[in-house]
Amino acid sequence: MAKNSTKDLQKTASKNGSSKSAKATKKSSISRSNSSPKLEQKESNTSNSIETNQETTRASAYSVAQDQLKTVAGIMGLEDHLHQYLQVPQRELIVNFPVKMDDGSMKMFTGFRVHHNTIKGPTKGGIRYHPDVTLDECRALAMWMTWKCALMNLPYGGAKGGVVVKPDELSQRELEKLTRRYAAEISLFVGPERDIPAPDVGTNAQIMAWFMDTYSMHKGHSIPAVVTGKPVSVGGTAGREYATGLGITYCTRAVLNRCSGLTLEDSTVAIQGFGNVGSWTARTMDERGARVIAVSDQHGGIYNKNGLDPRHLMRYVAETGSVLDYPGSDRLTNQELLELDVDVLVPAALEGQITASNADRIRAKVIAEGANGPTTPEADKILDDKGVIIIPDILCNAGGVIVSYFEWVQGLQSFFWDEGNVRSRMQQTLTDNLDLVISNTVRTKQDLRTAAYMIAISRIVEAVEIRGFYP
Ligand code: NAD
Repeated sequence: MAKNSTKDLQKTASKNGSSKSAKATKKSSISRSNSSPKLEQKESNTSNSIETNQETTRASAYSVAQDQLKTVAGIMGLEDHLHQYLQVPQRELIVNFPVKMDDGSMKMFTGFRVHHNTIKGPTKGGIRYHPDVTLDECRALAMWMTWKCALMNLPYGGAKGGVVVKPDELSQRELEKLTRRYAAEISLFVGPERDIPAPDVGTNAQIMAWFMDTYSMHKGHSIPAVVTGKPVSVGGTAGREYATGLGITYCTRAVLNRCSGLTLEDSTVAIQGFGNVGSWTARTMDERGARVIAVSDQHGGIYNKNGLDPRHLMRYVAETGSVLDYPGSDRLTNQELLELDVDVLVPAALEGQITASNADRIRAKVIAEGANGPTTPEADKILDDKGVIIIPDILCNAGGVIVSYFEWVQGLQSFFWDEGNVRSRMQQTLTDNLDLVISNTVRTKQDLRTAAYMIAISRIVEAVEIRGFYP
């Protein structure tokens, strides 16, 4: 399993000191505004013309997740009964529900909520509004959340949910009704001690506020800790909106310094997806000296070899609904963006984007996985052979769930922290666990993904062994 990139990474990491800490170490538009954002970002998530790059379809994300587990279980010598226990979700809920539309008609929608594992505590995971949401996709994303929470040492298992819907085709009123009905339908599955949803693709702080309000109305009192990613005015935390992007920037900077001999300041970056994760990654990387030369959304991409201005571009997207035709940029396709000659590539859209069919054309030196599951196992092997370092999703994009955890803790205690405290604790948690992953890579001669999985799975197995299997 250890190939060129893994060896290079181990060599460089050892040379640089594996324990050295990082130096700093149509109708509705969905408002992403939260906390005290310097910028209010609005998105139009039109999803009619989604470009997909799948020799494996998105429905097979679950088999990708299971393959990843199987590989690591083999390397770790995981006992068969533990492998069987971890390879399937603990419980799954499918809901079909009606929503009365603005024109008076009634439309049926399908939603899901999946709990992968509860051995470490209540489950945690996003809610996705997207036309391609499936039960299998939720299973995969819930499993990845279990590993991510364990890797960050958070007292959670993994969950995921979603509704099959094109959110941009609904009015705000319809979106609110859909959210409230979905919240009511899955309310038997959620709760501050049971399962705590958060935003994901196609959802945002406003949707979390409606969800929280619905749940609270049913219980008869306000329960802010039932969801995270809420606006600060209703119990959200400072720093949640940009947390995932900032965490990706922290991880990328540390891995560049310690494993590749590059620095973020001297790096060029291309980012697929310019929603919450992609836009804040672009902005926080740019603020730390990187040159973001290409970004994309579902409509296509833009390029400027001298660098784009992410802060200004976020305003442009809020006004126009897309990155396309941003002044001073040239167009490129999502496929061309993935294959650009850049130092860092950040897939920050959907799963299954880097596959066996395009991996050999990827020219980036480092792939920082902002999205969950953007790289298939076949692509992993090809990229490792080419010497590309992949910062795996369960590490790279964990800044969001770390700050969600802080939001949940603050909500339970009704005691709120300042933004600096949130940021520094997030950075500490992320970089401490990044250090462990790099040390494990050096020790086991595995790539970063395998090393991260080994830590996550061994923490869960330890908890299983101590708790035992009920009854
Ligand atoms: P979002 O809805 O805010 O943005 C998604 C972006 O991807 C949009 O710009 C959309 O136009 C674009 N997109 C969709 N399909 C595309 C395609 N085929 N090619 C290029 N761009 C495409 O969603 P988000 O919250 O930014 O989530 C993005 C990814 O990050 C998802 O995989 C999500 O699971 C993961 N993630 C999100 C968070 C979070 O805090 N929001 C945390 C961890 C991981």
